[in-house]
Parts: sequence; structure tokens; C-alpha cells
Amino acid sequence: MSDTQVLIPEIGMFVAQKLPYHSCRRCGRCCANKLIPLYEKDLERLGGFRGFYLPTSSLEREITGAAHKMKMLDSKCIFLDGTTCKVYDLRPDTCRRHPFIVTRKRILVSAACPGVDWSIESEDLAYYKSLSSGISEKLDRFIETRSKFSDRWTRP
Ligand code: SF4
Ligand code: SF4
Repeated sequence: MSDTQVLIPEIGMFVAQKLPYHSCRRCGRCCANKLIPLYEKDLERLGGFRGFYLPTSSLEREITGAAHKMKMLDSKCIFLDGTTCKVYDLRPDTCRRHPFIVTRKRILVSAACPGVDWSIESEDLAYYKSLSSGISEKLDRFIETRSKFSDRWTRP
């Protein structure tokens, strides 16, 4: 990781200059103790299930723009079985793009994901940007209003 990456402690993510490579190690860390915002598209995709979501708080809505979030049991996603996702093919966009959020203005990378390889640049910027569309505008606004580091952050 280069020293140009800046941590945003409020969301546990780095702002990166370039999108790093990622290879999932199936540790399940991103499925526990996490806010998983759910957008209309996610709720439609998971429409065959019941009782898996809760309303977001006003702060969570301010950050994500989502009215709902995934329900957690013992701090773990209700669909997590060991380290396996029981709805992998139907999982929310938040899970598909993890550990990245590519907003309109920034590349954000999870500080906790062990599958990130900072030594290689990924070519999937457009893919992650498209999966981040639900959260993009709200999160950019939240970052700009809350963080003292915003002047050091860059555009993808
Ligand atoms: S935290 Fe990273 S490596 Fe672990 S399961 Fe999630 S995406 Fe994969
Ligand atoms: S839906 Fe699947 S991938 Fe997403 S948090 Fe739950 S268990 Fe993890």
C-alpha cells in the first residue's frame, strides 16, 4: 500500500489513488459486524425470502441512501453459514462489490479485507462503479461534510 492512501475511520475504508486487485479468501469478515444497505434492486432479487431486513437509522440513510439494511444475528448476516453465503447468486450489490466502493468522486477500499493486493492494479473500475451507484452520491456528500481529510482525496 502506498502512503498516499488515506483512511476514513468513520467507514473503515481507505481512499485510494488506483483500484487495487482483489482475490476473495472466503474469510467471511465482510458478512459480520457490517452495515449491508439494501436497495430496491436487492430487495427484488431476494424477493423469495422473508424477514431478512430491517429499516435503516437516519444516520445510516444519510450515509447510504438506503431505506433498508440486512438483518444480523449475533452480529452476522442472516444468510451467512460458517463462511459461506447461502444466497450467493442473489446477494446484494453491496456484497458483490466488496471490498470496494467506487463513487462518482472516489475509490474506496476496505481496510479490513485480507484479499486486497495493493501491488497490482485492477482493471474493473467501471464494474465496481456501476455496483456502487446506489451509495455513490450520498456517501460522497457524507464524506465531504464529515472528514477533515477531504482535500487529499482524488477522483477515479
Ligand atoms: S473480507 Fe474480503 S477476503 Fe474476506 S470474505 Fe470478504 S471479500 Fe472475501
Ligand atoms: S448476503 Fe451473503 S455475501 Fe452478503 S453479507 Fe450476507 S452472507 Fe455475506
